[in-house]
Amino acid sequence: MTVHLVGAGPGDAGLMTARALELIARADVILYDRLIPDGALHGAREDAVLIDVGKVGGGAQVPQAATNDLLLEHGRSGREVVRLKGGDPFVFGRGGEEAQLLRGAGIDFSVVPGVTAGVAASAYAGIPVTQRGMAAAVAFVTGHENPGKDETIDWSALATFPGTLVFYMGVRKLDLIATQLIAGGRPASEPVAIIQRGTFADQRTVSGTLSDIAQRAAGAQVRAPAITVVGSVAALHEELAWFGSGPLAGRSVVVTRARAQASGLAGRLRALGARVVEAPTIRIEPLQAQLPALGGVDLVCVTSPNGARRLLEIARDARALAGPAIAAVGPGTADALRAGGIEADIVPERAVAESLVDALAGLELQRALIVRAEVARDVLPEALRERGVEVEILPVYRTVPEPLDGAARELARAADYVTFTSASSVRFYVEAAGPPADGQRIVSIGPITSDALREHNLQAHVEAQDHTPDGLIAALLGDVAPGQLF
Ligand code: SAH
Repeated sequence: MTVHLVGAGPGDAGLMTARALELIARADVILYDRLIPDGALHGAREDAVLIDVGKVGGGAQVPQAATNDLLLEHGRSGREVVRLKGGDPFVFGRGGEEAQLLRGAGIDFSVVPGVTAGVAASAYAGIPVTQRGMAAAVAFVTGHENPGKDETIDWSALATFPGTLVFYMGVRKLDLIATQLIAGGRPASEPVAIIQRGTFADQRTVSGTLSDIAQRAAGAQVRAPAITVVGSVAALHEELAWFGSGPLAGRSVVVTRARAQASGLAGRLRALGARVVEAPTIRIEPLQAQLPALGGVDLVCVTSPNGARRLLEIARDARALAGPAIAAVGPGTADALRAGGIEADIVPERAVAESLVDALAGLELQRALIVRAEVARDVLPEALRERGVEVEILPVYRTVPEPLDGAARELARAADYVTFTSASSVRFYVEAAGPPADGQRIVSIGPITSDALREHNLQAHVEAQDHTPDGLIAALLGDVAPGQLF
């Protein structure tokens, strides 16, 4: 068994490597830092041990010694251990020290590089760290050292470095950094860009020159984590900024789906330029269940994509479902079944139970099995029973609330749009974050979700015509730019 020192990338979950995701999904134990992407651990096993060894800037810290002890303890346990770090583990990540510790203790390790913040934040700000004719070299520098006391950085050598300087951890030392570089001979007019929370939804860039950047950054209240780029390439931000363009540029949108589902909708919104705030306030918890004997059952109804996925797990083999007709409540559920090699026989256009009831109207039925969440509306079973059908319900998962942390709550409450994709997402979001504030526009995926909003004295400003994530996005786009066709 091995300890994997894994880079989680700079913040955008899409920048995690395939290898990182694979190891996270497999790990028994994950020791993680604070600066990892939102949702980085979504793919971890339900029974994995997740340990936060994050250093909270300025506040309580898990001392490195304690982290080391944990690494050794779990490294020796014979279990699969992932040590997950922001960015790249070997770039200012103490990954090198931890590797030495493990080697010294005779524990095998592997290193999974990650996309480092210096390169990623710059790229997301439209700043190429090297550029023909402008910068033939780039240096990654820690801004943490105290130029007055600490001699580990040779400031005069750095000042004459022929290329781009990328400072990590330097926001509190900006004036010292700038002063030292100017004293060492770099022109006071040299462009500088500071990128705060690069690649996160709320990334922002403050530009200036060596002479005024400290003042500008203070004025804009720049905070860690931030990268400071010094060099002529920093000025290319003006020309090449791209992050946050598109029809939803400048809009922030809360996505309230369950964790496992959040990324699809979030990714599509991001591609349209939105700043997405993921507020996964519900989590899907699989229920232990056994597939009943299907002899005599002439219809299996699956009422959600989660239900479909769980059913496929429980059945283990698509052939176990051979025989009865299969009905999916809507196209999303049909897609989830298709992923397991099952083509649903009945799929109403509109993903609501009432439409499924209509779609089943002409069918001769004796016995039906309904695969669904533990708590669900009874429209479908009642309608079938009324027709004299013998109905068995197989609950295969439940949705449980997931608390939002303080930062996510604040971001959510400041967003322009709050999207709801199910009745339960309304309930759980209001529980976790409070009702949307007055100025926030509420987007509902369909009538059932809008009803749930009304039950909370809330009104959807926008309701999707097509009750799918794409339909929701179309409705949102229509609200941003009324009259335009998307
Ligand atoms: N191993 C990490 C760096 C850890 S040091 C990597 O390779 O990226 C922590 C510093 O990284 C922060 O103080 C900040 O300067 C920088 N940093 C990390 N994530 C960042 C982000 N999303 N945007 C800007 N800077 C970031």
